[in-house]
Amino acid sequence: MKLNNSPIDKFTYHGREFLVKRDDLLDEKLNGNKARKLAYYLENDLPEIDTLISYGGTQSNMLLALSELAKLKNWRFDYYCYTPSKSAIDSRDGNLAKTLENGTNLIYVENNNLDYYISQLKTSNNQLLIHQGGRQIESRYGIAKLAQEINEYCTKQDIPQLAIFIPSGTGTTAYYLQQELPKHKVYTTNCVGSANYLLQQWQSLDGNHNKHLPTILGNTQFRFAKPNLELFKVINDINKVSNILFDLVYDPVAWNVLLNNLDKIDLPIMYIHCGGLTGNTTMMNRYRYLFPEYFAKI
Ligand SMILES: *Cc1c(COP(=O)(O)O)cnc(C)c1O
Repeated sequence: MKLNNSPIDKFTYHGREFLVKRDDLLDEKLNGNKARKLAYYLENDLPEIDTLISYGGTQSNMLLALSELAKLKNWRFDYYCYTPSKSAIDSRDGNLAKTLENGTNLIYVENNNLDYYISQLKTSNNQLLIHQGGRQIESRYGIAKLAQEINEYCTKQDIPQLAIFIPSGTGTTAYYLQQELPKHKVYTTNCVGSANYLLQQWQSLDGNHNKHLPTILGNTQFRFAKPNLELFKVINDINKVSNILFDLVYDPVAWNVLLNNLDKIDLPIMYIHCGGLTGNTTMMNRYRYLFPEYFAKI
């Protein structure tokens, strides 16, 4: 499987042109920035490994991507998490359902101590531990390939400098993208936690304070993965105008922040589509449940 050379689309919105790097189209099963972050493991032989270990949320895009990786590699996959609700386990939609179909072993950690539990975990030579969200140096390998594709596009189109916008969870993709593209300006927003949390994530990635950091356009308004009608209207409108389907967790916050900051960005803008569409069914169910009147009308 070769996960590269995703197309770049264009659309105009509110008088501004947006380029979109369509990493959602990399591969049906493994796409978005999760495919970039896992490319290292996909493209390198790791003969001693027979078990993949990771941890985090039970509806995360990374969970599904890791289960696809394990399937391709013929590895056992153990995932440490908090106990999901019974309805989440019984559901046939979304990332958790697809992950369970892939044969993932969920291991429940009680008492809100997942991070501590993992920090105490001893792995052996046959086990590969990938940290939550792929927050580790191996992720840089695939993100460098993404950067290379962006550079090639700029050379071909004669674009000297871009503003590149990408939503952040752990911030791993934004950080390595900025390291790989020093002459471009990477913008991001904190979809998970505060802007300060994002700075801490970057520090923990390589501890060097002098690095060229992405520019954070801060999000203080929206909580992670919380349905919000204002955000839904923004992303729904963009979906229609662009003819591109965006995800319902990261992209609504990211587009909202980006549109509110357009006057600060003079360079041509490229938005990185990070995939995540497999999570849309479960998010849509939550929207319908929380806002029945609104969705009855449209
Ligand atoms: C994981 C994810 C992100 C955030 O990626 P990080 O490297 O953790 O910052 C953004 N958008 C989508 C759709 C994702 O799945």
